Formats: sequence, structure tokens, C-alpha cells
Amino acid sequence: TPETAGFPAKPPAGQPDRRVAVLLPLPLREAYDYRVPEGMALVAGDFVEVPLGPRRVIGVVWGPGAGTVEPGRLKAVVRRFDVPPMTDVGRRFVEWVAAYTMTPPGFVLRMAVSVPSALEPPKPMLAYLRKQGAEPPPGFKMTEARKRILALLEEGPPRTPAELAEEAGCGVTVVRGLAEAGLLDPVMLQPTRLGRPDWHRPGPALSPDQQAAADDLRERVASGSYSTVLLDGVTGSGKTEVYYEAISAALEQGKQALVLLPEIALSAQWLDRFARRFGAPPAEWHSELTGAQRRDTWRAVAKGEVPVVVGARSALFLPYPDLGVIIVDEEHDSAYKQEEGAIYHARDMAVARAHLGGLPVALVSATPSLETKVNADSHRYARIELPARHGGAVLPDVELVDLRRDRPPARHWLAPSLRKALTDTLAAGEQAMLFLNRRGYAPLTLCRACGHRMQCPNCTAWLVEHRLARKLQCHHCGLQQPLPHACPECGEEGTMAACGPGVERIAEEVAELFPEARAAIMASDTLHGPRAIQEMVESIGRHELDIIIGTQVMAKGHHFPMLTLVGVVDADLGLNGGDLRAAERTYQLLHQVAGRAGRGERPGRVMLQTFMPEHPVMQALAAGDRDGFYQLEAEMRLEAGMPPFGRLAALIVSGEDPTLVERVAMALGRAAPRSETVHVLGPAPAPLALLRGRHRRRLLLKAPRSTQVQPLIAEWLDKVEIPPAIRVQIDVDPYSF
Ligand code: ADP
Ligand code: ZN
Repeated sequence: TPETAGFPAKPPAGQPDRRVAVLLPLPLREAYDYRVPEGMALVAGDFVEVPLGPRRVIGVVWGPGAGTVEPGRLKAVVRRFDVPPMTDVGRRFVEWVAAYTMTPPGFVLRMAVSVPSALEPPKPMLAYLRKQGAEPPPGFKMTEARKRILALLEEGPPRTPAELAEEAGCGVTVVRGLAEAGLLDPVMLQPTRLGRPDWHRPGPALSPDQQAAADDLRERVASGSYSTVLLDGVTGSGKTEVYYEAISAALEQGKQALVLLPEIALSAQWLDRFARRFGAPPAEWHSELTGAQRRDTWRAVAKGEVPVVVGARSALFLPYPDLGVIIVDEEHDSAYKQEEGAIYHARDMAVARAHLGGLPVALVSATPSLETKVNADSHRYARIELPARHGGAVLPDVELVDLRRDRPPARHWLAPSLRKALTDTLAAGEQAMLFLNRRGYAPLTLCRACGHRMQCPNCTAWLVEHRLARKLQCHHCGLQQPLPHACPECGEEGTMAACGPGVERIAEEVAELFPEARAAIMASDTLHGPRAIQEMVESIGRHELDIIIGTQVMAKGHHFPMLTLVGVVDADLGLNGGDLRAAERTYQLLHQVAGRAGRGERPGRVMLQTFMPEHPVMQALAAGDRDGFYQLEAEMRLEAGMPPFGRLAALIVSGEDPTLVERVAMALGRAAPRSETVHVLGPAPAPLALLRGRHRRRLLLKAPRSTQVQPLIAEWLDKVEIPPAIRVQIDVDPYSF
């Protein structure tokens, strides 16, 4: 096996043999040296195949070899792939993210080389569709796995046998069996053809504010230098229209544009709108793509054939030859924080990527994160404001419904005033939305006889009843079990009772109150995939529904002209739990939900049901005083030395054996760096103290804003021996705490 070379590799001193350091997309801290065979020419960034023990793996030439391994023991590079090399900026970005998040560089590289098959020239691939009307031959047994495959093929594009097997969690032979039985239609998948957005197409006539904002962004793109700008404007003020101009400016220069969206799979409306503006859709990058789509997109990006990518956070790691602008839409959204593997915040990494590549990045939001707001206030970031809604649409009126006085009937959740508003809205022929960020029927099931609560055996979480699916589910690990008829603790029958509301229960109440109204639930588990969401969104747009009962899925960017009433069932929901960002996040979410109302000609009305009408979040929402809320929140954070005025980093110690976890956490606690300004809190139970069967303890390092926490943590971890059964994750800038 090759020996390790220094990282980053140093040029060999007077060594005649040709060697390169190759970084492999594995959890490795260093690049390995390999010999360059006779007749092969390599440059830094080249994608290569190399031997690693008995295996062959792909890697990226990271620089000249270090020369510490004897020439005779060096293994040779097997081959070079015929794709453009990873750019200098791309490699520096991998190193930067690795250093910042304290993740091995190889592990970060894995995000950049996520589709090995994309390195080969694409071949047409055999894929299958469901054969319409085909019946199974006599004696053919419909196993569960076979049924799953057929169900998968009812939806979505044709897929290769390997993709189907993976999605259905079975072997490829199951797919072959179905094909032999004549139930599938073979098709040859040609490489995906990606559209070419056309920047010559004119956009709409912009208002003077919008025009000034667009000019500013265009200038930044044209300058070809780094800057971060906050595009700050109320929902409906035309932020999207304005950043389209920045995209257009990048394309005009022959560069690429990247748009990050927090939940791209939910963004069909965004894609349609982009296609109307630019005559062709952008390339998409997210977890819902099939393997073939990933392969073709990655390869096309590397070859410079993709002008615009819209994607989730991982799109930052695609091999752009010459990126001209990055847009981070809804920059405050917590979905940008990646919590597994390499733990990073995509918004912050987008800023780093822009800095390394010398290009502008626009952070877009109606409710910026406090971090970004403070950076803009202190002029570290520029700010562009769009103060008014386009076309004079007014912001909705926000009313607080005090649940202590305006009480819903027992076992019901909608207050009399909200019921009245719903009645009026329906009578006016308009639409209403009820928002509750809780999937399922009830968040807690308990036994009325003995008080036993149904809890997930693997996680610190209650099991949530899903009445439509007739199951109890854990929303953290996905565990499902049938709803018990008898209490598992005391054995009493028929005593299990649902506590509290989820969207399914609200739907039940709506059906009881307004039996004639057309109502539907919109949640991630009732809508399967982006297509179902798009159909629902279109159906709402055509006014085929009167009342929509939705979770967070509904809060995002949709535009419904007939929607005039938004009722928030439990506005306090996000405020419980003591998380430092609870108030900020609740404010942002409710503000965004409220923004769904009155986007058309008709004015909107928002009603927030709360037990805490005096809470600053509720007061700010009711008064429409966004900046007042931010100021109060900023003062509290400043006083506590919390982000963005102080820095935090977390160590999460996890393992299956709680005693060992505790012992390691205590040892880390004793070895913790401490000074007048640096404090370590804990060990304490992590927010989910038990997750997927692993016990988790957390230590929190708190330091002044100017502190470089990475060297402190590196030194800290060096002092403690971590047994192999224990995992220590480093979370620099944890999102929730
Ligand atoms: P935001 O991104 O700030 O929420 P959008 O860009 O989505 O705002 O604009 C809100 C609505 O107003 C969209 O339907 C958009 O097409 C429309 N709109 C915004 N600016 C203009 C304009 N200058 N001309 C025509 N329509 C516009
Ligand atoms: Zn669980």
C-alpha cells in the first residue's frame, strides 16, 4: 500500500522519478504518492484511477509527489480520465472547507467527486418502464419486493435495474424477474440533454428600485471580483426577478451561475418560472435526481456545458470551470446546515467559495439570518434593499389570537375568531391556509389508564400517530409500528389516546366545521415527490381547493393569488425547547408563512394562535416591526456573548454504550481548553440525547468572535484518547444549541 505523503504535497528535492500526490475521496487526511507511468502526462486537478490495496479507486492529482516513498515501492497511476481537471479554485475550496469544518480533506473531496461514473463517456443505458396493461403470467408470485418495484415505476422516469433495486431495497434479480415476466418495457436511456438558458431574452420592465438593485448586481458580476451582498426585501418585492439579472450578467460574460435553494425538490414553481424567463430550464442538482441524471449533469458541468445550476447545498461542490455568481435564496433557512458527514453551513461555504473564486455572492431573504443582518449592518457585506411589494400589493394584516381568552372547544384546535374568519373567507369565494408545522395526526399518544407514553426505542422522541397510514412513526429514525390496540405497559384495551394536534387532526376539524369545503393536507409525507407537490400547487392555483392544511412544505415561496387568509394553528410551537435560535427561527418561519397571504389583488389576513401574545416574536409580527425584533434579538445575543457576537463550536460524543460515551465526554471535559475568554460548557445531553440507538453527549466551546477555534479544538482532541467504539463529531458554528 502506498505510504502517506505530506499534505499539501511538497515538490520532491532533486528526484528524477515522476510522481504525483493523489487525494482520494475517502476519510483521509493526506494525499498519497503515486508514480506516473511512461507516456502519461498529468497536471494538478486531473481525475485518475489508482490502486489502493487490492482495490482501484478514483482520485484527484493534488500536486507533485512528496518523495518520501522509495521509487521501487511506489504504485503507478492506472489511468487518467478524459474530463477537464478540477480547477485550482475547486481544489482550494476542498482544502478550505476541510480546514474550516475540521473534516479530512478526502472526505470533503468525496462531495466533489460524488458520481464516479460521470468520469467515463456516457453510454446509452438499459432502463425500464412499467408495461401498460400487462398482467402477471399465471403462477407468477407478487412478492413484496416485486410490488415495490412496480409501485416505483408508477411514478417518475424510467430507471436502470441498479437504480430500481437500490430504491426498492432489493436485488437486481427482482427487476430482471419482472422484465422476464413481461411486466416491464425496456428503453435505452440516452444521456440527458440539458437546456441552454438564453440571456438575450428580455425580462419584465423593472420598477426603479428593482432596476437600481439589478444594476448593482450586474456591476458586481461584471467586475469579476469578490463581494457579498445581502438582497433584502419583503416577500413579493421582486428579489427573484432582480437576481435573474445577475444570472443573465454572468451568462453574458460566458460564465456560470449557481443558485442555491433550501429545498429544491419542492421548487417546481421556481423551475417553471426560470424556464419562462430564460427559455430553458436550469440544470438541477439535488438528492431526488436519478443516478443517470447525476452522471450526465456532473459531466456536463465539468465540461462547461451547463450555464446555470440550481441546487441544494451539495451543488457548491460541482466542478464549475468558471463560476460568475452565486445566489443563496432564502439564505436564513436552516436546511442549509448539513448535519451529517462533513458538517457545514452552505451559506457560509458559498461566501468562502465566492471569495476563493473572486466572484460576487448574493444572499437573498425577506428575513435574513441574524449573522447576515449584523454583517450587513457593520458593512462587512453590502446591502441592497427592495422595500415595497411589486405592483402595490400590500403586506397582510397580522392579528394575534389569544388562546387563553379566545378558546377552541375541548379537543379542538381552532379558536372561534379563526373559525369566523374561515367562514367569511369561504363566503367571499377565497382560499384559506391553516399552517401547523407538525406532520401526522397527533404528536403524542398516551394511555389514559396508566399514563404510559409511546416513545421511540432508538431516539429521544415521542412516536407520532399517522392516522391515514395507520402507523406510529418516529420522525427522527423513521421507525414505524402499528398503533397498539392495548397499552403495551398496563395491557388495558382501548385506552390509547391522541394528545395534541398534527395536520391530520386539523383536517378532521375542518371537515367537521366545513363539510362542503374542498380541503387537503399538504405535508411531505402526504405528497410523494416533487411532482405530487407541483400538482397540488397547481391545483391550489386553479382554485380547486378552498382550505389547505399545510406544514413547512407550504411555507416556501409559493404564490397563490386567491389565498387571502392564513391561520397559524400553534404559533408558539418553535419557541419551546430553549434553543438559542428559537425566537429567530420562529420569527422567520411565521413571517414567511404570513407572506403567503394576499399576494394577489386582494388584501390578506393572517391570524396567529398563541398563548404568549406578549412575546417579542408575536409583538413584532403583529406590528410588522421586523427590524425592531432583530434589534432586540441582537441585544440579547450580544449580552450573552452568543453568535453572531461570539463563537461556538460543539463536540458531539456518541456511541452505543452510554457508560463509555459518558466516560469519554468527561475526559474531554477535563481536557477542555479554558481561559479568561474561552469557556467549555458540558458535557451535557445533546439536543437528541438518543438518536438512532446512539447515546449523545455534547460539549460546547464558547469564545470571542475573533477566536480561531479550529487550532484550539485540534489541540484539545489530541489530549484525549478516543476509543474506536466512540465517535466525536466536530460542529463548528452549530446551528441549534
Ligand atoms: P420575491 O422573490 O421578492 O418574493 P418575486 O420576484 O417572486 O418576489 O416577485 C413577486 C411577484 O411579482 C412575482 O409573481 C413576479 O413575477 C412579480 N413581479 C415582480 N417584479 C415584477 C416586474 N418588474 N414586472 C412584472 N412582474 C413582477
Ligand atoms: Zn427514532
